[in-house]
Amino acid sequence: MRVLAIGECMAELAPAPSDGDYRLGFAGDTFNTAWYLARMGDVPTAYFTALGTDALSTRMRAFMADSGIDVSAIRTIEGGTVGLYLISLQNGERSFSYWRGQSAARALADDATALADAMSGADLIYLSGITLAILDPAARERLLVALANARADGRKVAFDPNLRPRLWPDTATMTDAIMAAAGVCDIALPSFEDEASFFGDVDIDATADRYAAAGATTVVVKNGDGAVRYMIGGHRGTVPVEPVTSVVDTTAAGDSFNAGILASIAQDRPLTDGIAQACRLAAQVVQGRGALVPVDIARS
Ligand code: ADP
Repeated sequence: MRVLAIGECMAELAPAPSDGDYRLGFAGDTFNTAWYLARMGDVPTAYFTALGTDALSTRMRAFMADSGIDVSAIRTIEGGTVGLYLISLQNGERSFSYWRGQSAARALADDATALADAMSGADLIYLSGITLAILDPAARERLLVALANARADGRKVAFDPNLRPRLWPDTATMTDAIMAAAGVCDIALPSFEDEASFFGDVDIDATADRYAAAGATTVVVKNGDGAVRYMIGGHRGTVPVEPVTSVVDTTAAGDSFNAGILASIAQDRPLTDGIAQACRLAAQVVQGRGALVPVDIARS
């Protein structure tokens, strides 16, 4: 199966060891998942977004391609640029400043034909709540219609709600949009803590039930270092997580976890196999710094 991830990749400026210097990198939730998938070597992975025509956009596209990701469907917006975030370190705590208002990625769903073309090359399509959050309401609707059409053509859709209230005008708009997307997905990959905060789920099964009721036939609920709960075709189960004691940075834990799940689905392996691999992958990622940790795939 070929996987297509849809969303926004941003330029990242992270503090370098020498004071006042910054290192340029590239990251973004759905992109991180595509990057981990591509590292597995045997899952053909494409990314769909919109980039600009400036030097930074060109560099980002080259980084994606060099990572083994198919960039051929990416839209180019004349005169556009990419979003940027900068990481500040104060007493060991990381904080983030964002400049994403003029990111070309916000136009990724402006052209229904480009969306349909990109999806036509994939068997499994992956997006997140952040993909939805950066779009205006009309573009969000266009994306949902394209996903529904792709499903009607036999493609599978996977969705991580990735709730980020700061990217939305208000909580109700966020939760409405998330559940609308849940209605066009086959596989839901929520995180319990976030879901409980914004949907009031009383326990982890309530999260799974809500996505199953929306139409997902496979739900995998992450829960930090707590056990993973899953539901597939109405059957529930639990996979224990071996807590990592030497956590360095949990950035992209969920994104890398999702790559493990998507790989197992793309390769038609049992879901429990995929969850176990996802846990091993994420356990390596939380022991490294940043979003893109050079994991040992053989150990996952
Ligand atoms: P998100 O990053 O989406 O909030 P979680 O924090 O729930 O997701 O973590 C995703 C996955 O990362 C978990 O299901 C687990 O497999 C792994 N993980 C996260 N924190 C730890 C930890 N301290 N020890 C071991 N695994 C962890």
